[in-house]
Amino acid sequence: MKIITHGAAREVGRSCIEINCSEGRFLLDLGLKFGSEGYEFPEVKTPETVDCLFLSHAHLDHSGSIPLYKHAGLNCDIVATSATKMITQMLLEDSYKIESRGEVPVPYDQNDIYDALRNFYLIKFDKGYTRKRLSFRCFNAGHIPGSTLFEFKMEGKRVVYTGDLNTVKTRLMNPCTYLEPVDVLIIESTYGNRDHLPRQEVETKFLNAVEKGLARRGNVIIPVFTVGRSQEIIMALNEKQWSVPIYFDGLAKQLTKKLKWSDFDGNMKGMAKAYNLVKLIDGNEHRHKLLNSGKQAIYVTTSGMIQGGPILDYIKMSYKNKKDSILLTGYQVEGTNGRTLLEKGFAIVDNKRYDPVCYIEKFDFSAHSGLNELLDFIARTKPKHLVLVHGDDEAIENLAKLAKEKLKIKNIYTPKREQIIEIK
Ligand SMILES: [Zn+2]
Ligand SMILES: [Zn+2]
Repeated sequence: MKIITHGAAREVGRSCIEINCSEGRFLLDLGLKFGSEGYEFPEVKTPETVDCLFLSHAHLDHSGSIPLYKHAGLNCDIVATSATKMITQMLLEDSYKIESRGEVPVPYDQNDIYDALRNFYLIKFDKGYTRKRLSFRCFNAGHIPGSTLFEFKMEGKRVVYTGDLNTVKTRLMNPCTYLEPVDVLIIESTYGNRDHLPRQEVETKFLNAVEKGLARRGNVIIPVFTVGRSQEIIMALNEKQWSVPIYFDGLAKQLTKKLKWSDFDGNMKGMAKAYNLVKLIDGNEHRHKLLNSGKQAIYVTTSGMIQGGPILDYIKMSYKNKKDSILLTGYQVEGTNGRTLLEKGFAIVDNKRYDPVCYIEKFDFSAHSGLNELLDFIARTKPKHLVLVHGDDEAIENLAKLAKEKLKIKNIYTPKREQIIEIK
């Protein structure tokens, strides 16, 4: 079989791996990358001959190129869970809305999103399926609601693609517990050179910072990622009694409402309970009224890296408030407002520079396995061939080195883009 890495090859973004084998031609994910000069897409030739697309989860770095390739002739089943389908629709619609306001024309039509949604073939965890001539099984990957680990039977070999992976339990998600020996393991490497603090410790530090922020008599503003993090944060906040209301804002609010009715491997009851206890922000006017009222509150809002969504409004309105806190809740990609805020103390909103004078701190909540968890997963699945994707150079090289030295894995691949790996 041939494995071709069209994306997520020594990079985080535009996940897209093609496998050509005797069962057919298959794609694993079809994402995009937010490059310094706009979106970057994977290059897939003759998309009309793809037999099946397996979508690991809804994040745009895994799903964002689907409408573009639908436009270009992709016409196969898109295999995913119902939660992945629902979230993908929401993220693609939102992304189209934002992109169509920009200067560069969007390279597909809104209808391509809906045409692609009609191609979804829905699967459930811990079950076996056959599409075309390919048999496969699906398991919870522990990363975000709906995220899937796929196990394929290709040319008599067991081939596993993890998508994005978390083997640690969070308040929201049950962990991935896949443990079978495999022939070929294609695994994400985001944290191939770093470990996380224990989850409980991160959460305690975070809740202490919220308390301190309120004791300073300011608002506590918490930027969150729409999927997963926002739900986890409101669940953590609801573990304590606060003297001020918690407001929930942005796309996260809409998604959580829909997630209550979806199906994923996690604490859905806890999430629904937290959602019922927070107050929802009803548009710009409501937000402005609250922020101008002088009354203290906790605000949980998208987007997590301060690149869009209502958080931009909070920055514009409260950057002069010394008593406020901005508590970032995850990794901040280079070049984002979240990162410049942490490192240089400013954010750009509507082409204008703002230098918030409030307290700013970042907390290492993560939806990805850390280095030792990745090594543990590899050790337990004992792959004959190990393909490392979805990580920057340093993460991939470190993980490859340790897998070779510590775990004695013989065949390790760290492919660049468009590299072809042949496995016999
Ligand atoms: Zn992801
Ligand atoms: Zn990813």
